[in-house]
Amino acid sequence: MRAQLALYPGSFDPFTLGHLDIVERASRLFDRVEVTVAENTSKKTLLSLEDRRRLVTECTAHLANVTVCSFTGLLAEYAVRQGAGALVRGLRQVSDFEYEFRMAFANRRLAPDVETVFLMTSEQYALVSSSIVREIHHWGGDISSFVPPPVLRALKTAQGPGPS
Ligand code: ADP
Repeated sequence: MRAQLALYPGSFDPFTLGHLDIVERASRLFDRVEVTVAENTSKKTLLSLEDRRRLVTECTAHLANVTVCSFTGLLAEYAVRQGAGALVRGLRQVSDFEYEFRMAFANRRLAPDVETVFLMTSEQYALVSSSIVREIHHWGGDISSFVPPPVLRALKTAQGPGPS
């Protein structure tokens, strides 16, 4: 059987414990997992593409079959170029579903051989999101229960303005 490569795409702005949980679980299901850090041209990000990629690399260093790459463009085309058989996405709540459903259909139309696989969040991370982390960080709150230590350190040195 062909070794199965799965991509786990996202903005990871920043990478959270919820993301890490999905990567760890995907790494047990697939031969190889590539975390694909997307440039995200539609949103202004807190961290640069380079910083996001570096932090995901640090946070997943313990996983031997996980690599980290970044890309700009159409994910479906990129997945085919990489020889990936699957795209992994995480689902937290019903509100994630509509967007993920549309993305999965679009990607399937563009790349019919690449299967989207959804992993359900672990209970303790159901309310963890990058946007919540950015909001708490902006106001100087404690994000230590939301992000892995390398992200915590990086965001400490880029502390937000706090309440004015
Ligand atoms: P995007 O900008 O593509 O939505 P994100 O970095 O926000 O990228 O998320 C990447 C993927 O990880 C998405 O499928 C998202 O639903 C999933 N995800 C984010 N946070 C969690 C979490 N706490 N538990 C499970 N999946 C999550």
